[in-house]
Amino acid sequence: MDALLSVREACYWTTTAPALQLTPRDWPARADVVIVGGGYTGLSAARELAKRGAHVCVLEAHAFGWGASSRNGGMVLTGLKPSLGALVKSFGLTRAREFFCASLDAIRYVETVVREEGIACDFRRCGHLELAYKPAHFDAFQRDAEMLARDFQHPVRVVSSADLPTEIGARSYHGGLVDEASAGVNPAQYVTGLAQAADRAGAHLFADTRVLSISREGAGFVVRTTRGALRARDVLIATNGYTNGLHPYLRRRIVPIGSYIIATEPLPTTLAAELSPTRRMMFDSKNFLYYFRLSKDNRMIFGGRAGLFPETPRTVRESATILQRALVEVYPQLRNARIEYAWGGTLAFAFDQLPHIGRTEDGVHFALGCGGHGVAILSYLGGVMGRRLSGETMSTPFDQLPFPTMPLGLYNGNPWFLPLVGWYYRILDALL
Ligand SMILES: Cc1cc2nc3c(=O)[nH]c(=O)nc-3n(C[C@H](O)[C@H](O)[C@H](O)COP(=O)(O)OP(=O)(O)OC[C@H]3O[C@@H](n4cnc5c(N)ncnc54)[C@H](O)[C@@H]3O)c2cc1C
Repeated sequence: MDALLSVREACYWTTTAPALQLTPRDWPARADVVIVGGGYTGLSAARELAKRGAHVCVLEAHAFGWGASSRNGGMVLTGLKPSLGALVKSFGLTRAREFFCASLDAIRYVETVVREEGIACDFRRCGHLELAYKPAHFDAFQRDAEMLARDFQHPVRVVSSADLPTEIGARSYHGGLVDEASAGVNPAQYVTGLAQAADRAGAHLFADTRVLSISREGAGFVVRTTRGALRARDVLIATNGYTNGLHPYLRRRIVPIGSYIIATEPLPTTLAAELSPTRRMMFDSKNFLYYFRLSKDNRMIFGGRAGLFPETPRTVRESATILQRALVEVYPQLRNARIEYAWGGTLAFAFDQLPHIGRTEDGVHFALGCGGHGVAILSYLGGVMGRRLSGETMSTPFDQLPFPTMPLGLYNGNPWFLPLVGWYYRILDALL
């Protein structure tokens, strides 16, 4: 049987989200704050601003949540994209601890918003399971666990390969690391609930409205869009992997990278329990990693990177074939499982792989970056930006972080180096 025969090139999560009911609003001449981008970052900022009485408009080029926020793996993870070891090496122990604590605050933030707003999105503190692709990676897990307990007062549990069947019905891994603090969520239901909450709080949400330019005029800005222009005291760019050419400062600092996911048909309950007895968020220790989890209706949601380029219909099709093969390598039990959905999305990498918040020289605010670790941290940082733009003072470890670009103007928004980076990581995965 061809497992890919019935595949729909569409995001499974989106099919599970309720329709968004927005309050009809007239196009305003001005706003206190205009937010560009209607994903977790922009909507979290808008909700905080509107709750504090600001007149805030969120302008989204497509439907709300259209970007990565409805299409991701729904893994609400501790930590950031760079490993703890890398953070300690680059920033020292104290800063690394601050970054890690921010990631825990971010998960609590999502949990609180979901509870306060009554968002039905299957948010659960199910924990995550990182899987050692090679024996040496398991040794590194043991060192990480010691460091987390000793220097971060954050207990995690190492699982030997002999004990792995209690966690996963797959035989190819060399052990695992469990962190109970991580959570899982249905990403599309979460972003829809967030949009509904921002609307309820009084934010003005405009879908199908692309921002064409932002220019400084007097003490504020003029924002030109496909729907018309409006003035704003402040502007927040929250466009992450879809930033494109909107601001030259960000164009030189954000690299858009594609990631892809397939979803199987709903699996029988006994098979689902064998594949993932604890229903955790799972990912392996490769650079070109696979990440996977069960959905509420027992589909195996299996993601990874077939290449690094942002998604197109061709890369989604090619990735579906590659991911189906990978799925069967991990879980031979799924050899005959039908793949019903395949989709891709674009995330944003900064050159240091960290999230960035701040202000450009011309006074435009931004919150973006972070690689594939954005569900929690960008919700949180969007919220922080919203509160700051309402006049509150809040500090985060990401303030004053240098926002690097390539030297000598070698990067201007066209990621010409991605094939080289792809090969570099493939070689690392083969060797180390
Ligand atoms: C396949 C995939 C899997 C992932 N898995 C995970 C995971 O499991 N866990 C995790 O933590 N992170 C994951 N991520 C990353 C995470 O999804 C993102 O970091 C997060 O959703 C970014 O949210 P955002 O609101 O900043 O951006 P987005 O949700 O991408 O929203 C940006 C929006 O800006 C809009 N926009 C762009 N330009 C304009 C303009 N000029 N005018 C108006 N609107 C504009 C776009 O239409 C888009 O909707 C994944 C990402 C992908 C793609």
